[in-house]
Amino acid sequence: MAEIGCDQFSNCLIDFVDGDLDQVQHALVKDHLEKCPLCEALMESYVKTIFILQKVNQVAPPKDMAIRLRQYLQSKLPSSL
Ligand SMILES: [Zn+2]
Repeated sequence: MAEIGCDQFSNCLIDFVDGDLDQVQHALVKDHLEKCPLCEALMESYVKTIFILQKVNQVAPPKDMAIRLRQYLQSKLPSSL
């Protein structure tokens, strides 16, 4: 099976959490999560942020929030990847 890198992971993260990935992509993201503690930590902080936002707003966060958050998460990744 092919593997994805951290940059692809961060691109897929939001769709992964939303359940919008197809089976193959979902498996690739899960596979990467198991191998990469950095992305696992990113995933956890993303899920926590979404959870807090949902508690505060009682609604799903707007899409531009998700995009900004993804840019933030990407800035946390090592640029060499
Ligand atoms: Zn990674």
